Amino acid sequence: MKTHLDWSAYDTYGIGDAFSGVPIRGGNYAKAVAVCMHNRECQRVTRGIMCPSYRITNDPAHSTEARVAAFKAALNGELGDDPFGSQVLADAMDLCVSCKGCKKECPSAVDMTLIKTEYLAQKNDAHGVPRRARLLGGLPAWVGHWGQMVRKLVLLRNNSPLLRRLAERFLGLSARRRIPAPAAHGFDAPAPDADGPRGRVMLFVDTFAQHFEPEIAQAAIAVLNAAGYGVSIVRPAADDAQPDRALCCGRTYLSTGQVEKARAEAQRVLAALRPALRTGLPIIGLEPSCLLSMRDEFYSLALGAEVAQLGKQVFLLEEFLARESHRGLTLPLKSMGGTKALLHGHCHQKAFGTMKSMRKVLGWIPDFQFELIESSCCGMAGAFGLEAEHYDASQAMAELSLLPKIRAAEDSTALIANGFSCRHQIADGTGKKPMHVAILLQQALAFP
Ligand code: SF4
Ligand code: SF4
Repeated sequence: MKTHLDWSAYDTYGIGDAFSGVPIRGGNYAKAVAVCMHNRECQRVTRGIMCPSYRITNDPAHSTEARVAAFKAALNGELGDDPFGSQVLADAMDLCVSCKGCKKECPSAVDMTLIKTEYLAQKNDAHGVPRRARLLGGLPAWVGHWGQMVRKLVLLRNNSPLLRRLAERFLGLSARRRIPAPAAHGFDAPAPDADGPRGRVMLFVDTFAQHFEPEIAQAAIAVLNAAGYGVSIVRPAADDAQPDRALCCGRTYLSTGQVEKARAEAQRVLAALRPALRTGLPIIGLEPSCLLSMRDEFYSLALGAEVAQLGKQVFLLEEFLARESHRGLTLPLKSMGGTKALLHGHCHQKAFGTMKSMRKVLGWIPDFQFELIESSCCGMAGAFGLEAEHYDASQAMAELSLLPKIRAAEDSTALIANGFSCRHQIADGTGKKPMHVAILLQQALAFP
């Protein structure tokens, strides 16, 4: 079987379960599935993320293990000639939100997020890319080329019950959801700063900061400047075929199984970052799922040896600040008058263990009390919560603990969530507006 992703990392992995072998088809992809030891940790509800779909249904059929079992059946030829198009596999994968909870918390580190990307790619091969997947996967290109047109259409649709119903019928986008509209003005990259007293960093402005919330990128620049760094924005390489289109990590294509398009986006990013990789400049990102894909999925896209170096040089803003604090970095943060805050971690932040740096950085603000919400996935999970058939599951995930905790907080409580889709879910579910940590730090720098 020809795979779209590079599964060679599993070539020498052992089998998780002593009572079954590696499925007969799929090569190293089958080995990635076979690491499951079937001890059903994913069917227990403890602290952590895994597994949101099991948590809301209490049904083993929606656990990581059931997904593994379905893939084993598919790759062993038990689901017919079109295994990736089978209803059995579709039912098993229906509520998987690609949260990476299993990659972090399953004792065998089953990476269902990556397995799902390959599955969708194989399904796309056999049946074509569905219309909605083309629409949602192509988001960076749509907003990159026609940002203001997209904004008008989204606002029109959001304000018209009729258009909401039509978009649900023909595009599968839930009429019950507001769709985020691009900002009236995208991020306008300033000319590169001179080096600061602590040197220079590169800022990777992702699709969401570029087109939807440019104030986050502006805040990050203010924070990095205050920390003593000159900031250069990562721009497309000189020979890029689309030099005016912002860079994108390819996440939306990965989530919809459009692996070749994701690879093309990742190659643009690598080309743009090549000079920084040579000189060793730190590369800082803001959106967890975008930045962390450079330390995760990029390895499976067969991009060459540079990926290992990239993995060493890319940091989330808070990771970078926390790391540099051990080398003398300080931020002149002021008390915000005893502000309290609730903090929600994006699943990928939690799966990559980066919440510790969030807590460290927030701890620098004088008189600032914050609490980390114990929650699994917020339920928006990229575009999952926008999909008509997943709206109820998405809401159920959010209502497990996240939204009740936020509703119960005083109105003056600051809400911090670094994920674009997490902020969308919280705002839709509570009417309250969460912010990225860069915005909070910028406020604490400027507080009177
Ligand atoms: S926790 Fe991991 S190893 Fe255990 S049954 Fe679930 S997927 Fe398999
Ligand atoms: S990626 Fe998340 S939703 Fe999917 S199986 Fe793993 S823990 Fe469950």
